Formats: sequence, C-alpha cells, structure tokens
Amino acid sequence: QLYDVAVLGATGAVGQMMLEILQERKFPIGNIYPLASSRSAGGKITFNNKQVEVLDVDNFDWTQVQIGLFSAGGSVSEKWAPIAADAGVVVIDNTSQFRYDEDIPLVVPEVNPEAIAQYTNRGIIANPNCSTIQMLVALKPIHDAVGISRINVATYQAVSGSGKSAIDELAGQTASLLNAREVETKVYPKQIAFNVIPQIDVFTENGYTKEEMKMVWETQKIFGDEYIMVNPTAVRVPVFYGHSEAIHLETRTPISAEEVRSLMRHAPGVKLIENEEDYPTPVSDSAGHDDVFVGRIREDISHASGINMWVVGDNIRKGAATNSVQIAELLIRDYL
Ligand code: NAP
Repeated sequence: QLYDVAVLGATGAVGQMMLEILQERKFPIGNIYPLASSRSAGGKITFNNKQVEVLDVDNFDWTQVQIGLFSAGGSVSEKWAPIAADAGVVVIDNTSQFRYDEDIPLVVPEVNPEAIAQYTNRGIIANPNCSTIQMLVALKPIHDAVGISRINVATYQAVSGSGKSAIDELAGQTASLLNAREVETKVYPKQIAFNVIPQIDVFTENGYTKEEMKMVWETQKIFGDEYIMVNPTAVRVPVFYGHSEAIHLETRTPISAEEVRSLMRHAPGVKLIENEEDYPTPVSDSAGHDDVFVGRIREDISHASGINMWVVGDNIRKGAATNSVQIAELLIRDYL
C-alpha cells in the first residue's frame, strides 16, 4: 500500500531532510506534497527523480493526504495541525506546539513506540526536541536495567538546530571574521562564530532556558517517570551539524562502566565507540548518520552510583527528520 504524504516546511533545514530520508528509507509514497509559505511556493524540488512543485500551505486541500510531517514552526503547526487532523491526516509534528499536552503522544521509536497508539486522541503525534531524543536513545537501556534517578547534562548544540538562517549566520560571521570585516548578529543574541553561547531559546522564570526545561519535561513524559530528575545546561557552539552532550547520571542501583558499555553494544539506534581512548565528535562521526554515538563511558569518581558518558547525534537526522519518519513507519506498519 502507498501513502500520500505532505511535508510542511519542506524548504527548511528539517523539511528538506525529511524529504531526503523518506527517499533513503524507501517510504511507500504515492504522492508527495512539499508545502511551505507563499515565499517559496512555485519552486521545485526533486523527489524520487521527479520534479515536484512546492505548494503554498494556505491553499492546500488536506483531504488528499494520509500523513503530514510538520516542521514549519510552532504557530504554523498550531494553525494547521488541527485542520489537517480534522481532514483525516495523521500529523507528526516536529515543533514544540503540542509536546506537553497530556493527550498528545511524544515518541522516540527506540524508547516508547507504544505511545503511538494514542494518535487517535487528536490525530497528532509530537516529535521530541533534538537534544532529548539523542539523550534518551542512549539512556533507555540504562534506565531499564538499573533505574536512573538523576541526569546532569551539558549540551553542545549545532547551529542547524535553529534552522537555515542560523546556518547562514555561522557561515557568514566566520567568513567576515576571516576577512577582517564586522560581524552581523541576527539569529543569536551574541556572535556565534568562534564563540559559545549558554542560552538556547528564551529564559523561563526559574532561570533555566526553555530548551533546558524541554529536556526536563520531555524526559519525564517519554520515560513515563515523573520522578526522574534532570538538570540541563544547553549551550550553542559553532558547529554546523551534530549535537554533543556530556551526561552525568545517578542510578538507583550502582552499575559499572563495563556493564554500561555492554548495554550500549546492544542498544537499538546506538553506536558505541569501543576504544576507550577514542570518542565520537559531530564532524567525524555523527554528521550524516542516524545512529546516536556514545563514548567516554566512565564511573564517576565523585559519586558511588554515578556514570559519565559523551553522546553525539545528528540533530537534523535522528534529532528531527529521521525520528519523524521512523514514527511514520511504525504508524503504517501497526496502525493505518
Ligand atoms: P527553517 O530552516 O527556518 O525552515 C522553516 C520552514 O518553515 C521553511 O520551509 C519555511 O518555508 C516554513 N514556514 C515558515 N513560516 C511558514 C508559514 N507561515 N507557512 C508555511 N510554511 C512556513 O527551520 P527548521 O530548522 O527546519 O525548523 C522548523 C521547525 O522544526 C521549528 O519549529 C523547529 O523548532 C522545529 N525543529 C527543528 C529542529 C532542528 O534541529 N532544526 C529539530 C526539531 C524541531 P518558506 O521557505 O516558505 O519560508
């Protein structure tokens, strides 16, 4: 059976990758409808060797498709997801618009695939934040084995997580600085080239940023464990593709580094760097791959049931597009 699929935000960093991954994974597509705003409507993309026109979402008839992959921003999803769902579309939404609604499933296929069944509530499935996805793919086997009570995490996040304009900002500022020109700052609050910025998204009342609080709320929701404590610091770094995370865990029962390595060897979606003096980096390992790469596993010398690890993933692939397409694959396999 073939499915007609709309990709809303098809000209963006995530949407373009969704189109690529649908082709790569040979998703059974009948018709594909790339949607964007009137700014890009009329342009052409190539899909399965055919030219397809980008359509303006404002004029789209949603009854033509069964599945909608959305990544055009929260307000666009807020408007169009209910309309599409009313027309019978199952929406897989990459924005944070619906993630925290109790009746909306928030899914990482390696962690809580069973939650997809709740798509019938509102016709919408939410795709988690990129930093949460890669962290939970790596932590799920440890949580199942010994229980994680607390996660301290510092992220090192690529600019592609903020979309096309941020990729251009890092490239533009880098070129300007190498040519002794003034830098322009539009997307980020401070210069990102040759710098690091400890602010992602807006600040919330408790002093954490929204990106940091997303990791707290989403971890609890996806693990179905409201007691797991998460203490994140989210940092933007001048890397184009690939988020890195220094994760420091406290487990309910102590576990050795060797046991964690053994869990990682069999964990779905994880690639363990076996050589203990080697480690993954975004540029040399994760960029262009769907696996989450894990290294630097070691016992915490400051805590009896502490484990440290270094986790790297491609934020546009597993952190966004691949995770959405995997959800769609399970949806058609088990439900549609
Ligand atoms: P992006 O590169 O800036 O692309 C934005 C896309 O949305 C473009 O296709 C744009 O179309 C479209 N769009 C914007 N306003 C629209 C409107 N009013 N109506 C229809 N289409 C509209 O951004 P991105 O990085 O792909 O991210 C898009 C969304 O996914 C954001 O909500 C983001 O939070 C979420 N997300 C991103 C990541 C990530 O790692 N980047 C991960 C998870 C979730 P035009 O070409 O017409 O402007």
